[in-house]
Amino acid sequence: MSDECIFCRIINRELPGDIVYEDDRVVAFRDINPQAPVHLLIIPRRHIPTLADVSDDDTELLGHILQVANVLAGKFDVKKSGYRIVNNCGADGGQVVFHLHFHLLGGAPLGRFA
Ligand code: 5GP
Ligand code: ZN
Repeated sequence: MSDECIFCRIINRELPGDIVYEDDRVVAFRDINPQAPVHLLIIPRRHIPTLADVSDDDTELLGHILQVANVLAGKFDVKKSGYRIVNNCGADGGQVVFHLHFHLLGGAPLGRFA
């Protein structure tokens, strides 16, 4: 938990968040500024700043996040039509919130990435 981290504060219900899934390791909520009809953020409960900060101990957690993404794709009806998982890592990767998160985007054809 980081007091300054908005995602930690959403997890702890100190800030509002449209939470759509949670378990003992992972929380998912709607992005406040959606870039597609379905735009969710899937994050670990533990405050890990970026993907570059994970270790071998986090291998199972990372796999679990992708499994949760697939479950949510089903729940939000984009599993058949397709979806995209995005992680922006660090400054050059375009990361703005430094609590590891994976974007789940879908519900319309998405453009090619930059
Ligand atoms: P990044 O560029 O770090 O990968 O993306 C951060 C994402 O977090 C952005 O898509 C942004 O819209 C979203 N975001 C930023 N602040 C909040 C917030 O307070 N609540 C929610 N639900 N999403 C946020
Ligand atoms: Zn955090």
